[in-house]
Amino acid sequence: MNYRHAFHAGNFADVVKHTVLARILDYLKRKPGAFRVIDTHAGIGLYDLSGEEAQRTGEWRGGIGRLMEAALPAEAAALLAPYLDAVRAFNPQGGIRFYPGSPLVTRHLLRENDRLTAIELHPQDSLTLKAHFAGDWQVRVLALDGWLALGAHVPPKEKRGLVLVDPPFEKEGEFDRLVGGLVKAHRRWPGGTYALWYPVKDRAAVEAFRARLGETGIAKILDISLDIRAPSSEPRLDGCGIAVVNPPFVLEEEMAVLLPVLRDALGEDGAKTGLKWLTRP
Ligand code: SAM
Repeated sequence: MNYRHAFHAGNFADVVKHTVLARILDYLKRKPGAFRVIDTHAGIGLYDLSGEEAQRTGEWRGGIGRLMEAALPAEAAALLAPYLDAVRAFNPQGGIRFYPGSPLVTRHLLRENDRLTAIELHPQDSLTLKAHFAGDWQVRVLALDGWLALGAHVPPKEKRGLVLVDPPFEKEGEFDRLVGGLVKAHRRWPGGTYALWYPVKDRAAVEAFRARLGETGIAKILDISLDIRAPSSEPRLDGCGIAVVNPPFVLEEEMAVLLPVLRDALGEDGAKTGLKWLTRP
C-alpha cells in the first residue's frame, strides 16, 4: 500500500468527489429518518496543506484553492455551501490550510442520529483517522479491507444511506473490483445509494468501466464526470468521474448547475463536463 492521499488532498478530484458527497448528504437530510454513510476507503481524515506532501505537488492549489477564490453564481454558491462550510469549519482562522477528507466532510454534515462507518486498511492511517473521532459515538472507524467490508456491512440497520467507494487505483484491477463490489453489495442492499469514484486517465479503461456498469442490470446509475483538460499524450489524471447508483432525484439537476461552474473554476483548455445516465430507472 504505497498510495498517500496527502499528496493529492484538495485537488480537483477531491473537489468533485466531495461536492457530490455533500449534495447526496444534503438530500438524505431532507427526510427525518436516520441514515448511515459507509466510507470504504476513508484515508486519514484531515490533511495539512502546508505539509511536505501537499506542498510537493501543490495539487490543492488547482482544486480547493481555486474554488475558494472563484466568484460563484448564486445558485451554485448555495449548492456548494454545505461542502465549502465543512472546509471552512476546519480553517477557523480563514484562508485554507487544512483540508477535510471524506470522513470529516461527512461527519460535519451528519445530524445527531445519523452514523458514519469509516474503513481504512492502512494500519497507521486508520489510527490517525480514529484519533479524530475519539469518543464520538456516531462514528466507527474500522481497520479493514474496504472491498470485504463493502459486502459485509450492507445493508446498515438504518436502511437508508450512502456507500462511498474511493479506492486508490494504485493496482491493476480496481475498475473490475468496483463493478464486482457494487454488484455484490447491491444484491444485499438494492435500495442504498452508492457513489463510485474513478480516475479519467486511461480513457479506454473508463469507457469499458462505464459499459460494464451499464450491463450489470442495476437500474438508475448516473455518471458524473469532469475532465479538466483535453486528453494528455502521456498517462495523466486528466479528469475524474463518480458513478452514482440510486442518486437522489435532484442530483442530475444540481450537477447540471455545478459541473459547468467547477469546469470554469478548475479546468484548463479543453475541459469538459459529463452527466449521463448509464442505466435508467
Ligand atoms: N476517501 C478519502 C477522501 O475522499 O478523503 C480518500 C481516500 S484515498 C483515495 C484511498 C485510501 O484507501 C487510502 O487512504 C488507502 O490507504 C486506502 N486503502 C487502500 N486499499 C484499501 C483497502 N483495500 N481497504 C480500505 N482502504 C484501503
